[in-house]
This record gives sequence, structure tokens and C-alpha cells, in this order.
Amino acid sequence: MAINRIQFQPGMSLAEFLSRFGTEAQCADAIRQARWPEGFRCPRCASAEHYVVGHGSRKLFQCNACRHQTSLTAGSLMEHSKLPLSKWLLAIYLISQAKTGLSALAMKRQLGVSYPTAWLLHHKINRAMTAQDRQERIGGAVQLDDAYLGGERPSSQGQAGRGSPNKVPFVAAVSVNARGCPMHLKLEPLSGFSAKAIAQWATASLRPGTVVFSDGLACFAAVKEAGCIHHPKVVGDLKPRELPEFKWVNTVLGNLKTTLAGAYHALKYAKYAQFYLAAFAYRFNRRFDLRALVTGLIADVANCQPIRECVVRSHAEARF
Ligand SMILES: [Zn+2]
Repeated sequence: MAINRIQFQPGMSLAEFLSRFGTEAQCADAIRQARWPEGFRCPRCASAEHYVVGHGSRKLFQCNACRHQTSLTAGSLMEHSKLPLSKWLLAIYLISQAKTGLSALAMKRQLGVSYPTAWLLHHKINRAMTAQDRQERIGGAVQLDDAYLGGERPSSQGQAGRGSPNKVPFVAAVSVNARGCPMHLKLEPLSGFSAKAIAQWATASLRPGTVVFSDGLACFAAVKEAGCIHHPKVVGDLKPRELPEFKWVNTVLGNLKTTLAGAYHALKYAKYAQFYLAAFAYRFNRRFDLRALVTGLIADVANCQPIRECVVRSHAEARF
């Protein structure tokens, strides 16, 4: 049996992670490197000249030019957090390596923190993944399908916007290379399967010229408004789930279902759907290099804008 090189790649062991990021000083160095790869720049006046007060995670950088003081975490997702940096980085590591996702409860146990702390940490790291993944558009040949969170997928086309308030419609799009292998993934909740929603989504998520393969659901034709080429496949009244044109998008949707079942309990889909989906896509899009996934996520968290706890908790997002 051929070994799947992606599934069997070694990744970064816990032992290696702890040897590189096990102390506060190591974590502080990693965050400084992620935030200022070219060396410190004052966030107020962009001057490089500075001196350092304190040490470790409590380090303050004082600008020589304007006297502004800033910390390693000020202006980042970790701002005002009472958690040691080593716990933040361990949480990032655990999320990055968990193939089928990681529940907040599992994180609570692994980090030795309270459940509310683990929950908040989990959500904040998901925010960083969402912000980063949203910046990247996919292109080439793309398999597109409609799906729902919080319920079974529709058995026939044209059942958009069905019932339950906790049921969230979303689109799944997988780009496929010339050899037919899946490359990149986009998952995005929509207000419903309307032409307007698909046109907006395609503009934000697909590069112009993308060749889109979908079933005959009428709204998918709106990808043309984003400069894409559309190839609808109509097979009677059924969704052509078994056809090769849709093999990878269906495989990904199956894996997503497994991950959500294992990692997230009592899901409030309508409230947090985009973050669950984006975190899954983030990891999928970086699966070719699980070692770089760790350091990349540390950098994405270190460079993500701060978000207050009350915003995380109340975030119903205007898009719903
Ligand atoms: Zn300054």
C-alpha cells in the first residue's frame, strides 16, 4: 500500500516543541521575531533605535526617539493576557498538530487552565486563523459545493435556507492541481444560497479566471460575476456526489464532519460557524508542512489584532 506522504510526515514532536519553546524566554524570543522580523520598530514613530527594560515576557521596549513604551504583546491578540507566553504557545502547538481538531475541554486538561480560559484561548487562536485564511484567494480548477452545519446535507438540490435557526449554510471550494490532487480549501458561511451571496463570496475567495465545477444549483452561476468560468454538472434531480468532478470537495466535507464531531461539543453554529470553518481550512491549507504550521501559527497569532473577551463571546457577526 502506498504511504500517504502528507499523513505520514513527522511534524514537530512535543519533545522538540518543548526544547524550542518550553521557557518564557524562548517564547518571548519567538514572539519578538514574529512581530519584528527585521528588528524592533516603534509602533508610534517607526524608529528602530530603542532600549529594553525588564526581561523575558515582561520586557518593555522604549523608543529612543519618542519615548513610547511597548511590550511584546501590546497590540496583538495576546495583549492583556495573564497567561504565560509558554501556555499560549503550547495551545498554538496543540491546535496546530491536532489532525481532527482539539476541543476546549482537551485544551483545559493539557494546559492545566480553567475551562473558560481554555475556551477563550481556543477562540482567540481561531480568530487568528480566520483572519489569515481570509486574506488568501484560491484559483485554478475549483470544485464547489453547498453544505450545512448543524444538520444533514440536503439530499437534493434547491433546498437552500432550510429551517432550524442553528443550521448554517456554507460553501466549500477545493482547488485541484493538474494531477487531480487537492491543493487549497475555502469554507465560508453564507446568508443563504442566493446569486448575490455567491457573487460576493466568489469575489472575495476566488481569483479571476478560476474554473469552477459545481452541480446545477442555480446560484452557482453567479461565480461568473467574479470573473470565473463556470462548468455546471447537472445529473437529473440528484446531487452528483460520486462523480470525479466532486471527489475532493466531498472528501473534505466528510473530514470536516468528523472533526467537528470530535472537537466541538454543544456547538453554537450560527454564532461561531465561520471560525470553526476557517480553522479547519487554515490547517488543511498548511498540511503539506506541519512543522512550518507551528511557527506560522505562532506568527499569525503574534501579528493578529487584539480582540476583547466580550467581543469574542458576543460575536454573532453581522453577516448572519
Ligand atoms: Zn517612537
